[in-house]
Amino acid sequence: MSRDTALEHLHPTFRQKVQQLQSELTKADLPFRLFEGFRSAQRQHQLYSQGRTTRGAKVTNADAWSSFHQYGVAADFVLFIDGKWSWDDKGPRKAWWQKLHELAATVDLEPLSWELPHLQQKGQQLAQLKAGHYPAGGDSSWAENLQQAILDWRGSPSAPPVPDAAPNRPELSNATSLSVDNVMEVQQAVQARVTARDGLRLRAGPGTSFDIKSTLKPNQLIYIMQHSGDWSQIDIQGDGLADGYCHSGYLAALR
Ligand SMILES: [Zn+2]
Repeated sequence: MSRDTALEHLHPTFRQKVQQLQSELTKADLPFRLFEGFRSAQRQHQLYSQGRTTRGAKVTNADAWSSFHQYGVAADFVLFIDGKWSWDDKGPRKAWWQKLHELAATVDLEPLSWELPHLQQKGQQLAQLKAGHYPAGGDSSWAENLQQAILDWRGSPSAPPVPDAAPNRPELSNATSLSVDNVMEVQQAVQARVTARDGLRLRAGPGTSFDIKSTLKPNQLIYIMQHSGDWSQIDIQGDGLADGYCHSGYLAALR
């Protein structure tokens, strides 16, 4: 699972601070770059497992949904020197990391004492995020990404609620659902051709004792809605409404 450095996956409030920090770093000529922003629950769990249930050294204390990265309100800045990432904090570089944290503080980003590159939204409570109380002002690029991460997660602990800012598709209007119903009825009806040379009587009910309503023409195409003994209930126009009954012996279904 790869790192995500997309700014649009960060919450807008946090994103703005990250961009401010990036410009401060450029002004100060410090070679820090955004190493990772949003992080999926799967990737967080994978990192958490490292040194616990899988090989390697421990790299995080947070399991899935317990890091600010899962909510797009944390970012890791790492030194990028001569085309390589560096976590070196020895000698003169120690001062660079201190300067990173100083500049971060000026834009209200908060470091963690045990994770040098990590910066997160100041004053944000993890419990609030876990409960789905996300910072105000979320936009759709942040919300859709978080929503996808929530829907993709099948593990434990369970995912938080989907953010409100994720767009909901509009409900089908009454007009739309009615026309869909009509189409379905017509599709269920079977189209048929009148095979009586002299035309076929359409009656009010399934039997010769019922009144004649009209006479269908030879080769006329109609729809059979349902059968009743030897009789078929007929829909002439295909509009889903019954027009009467004909004897089934003079109808040939087209399929
Ligand atoms: Zn981090």
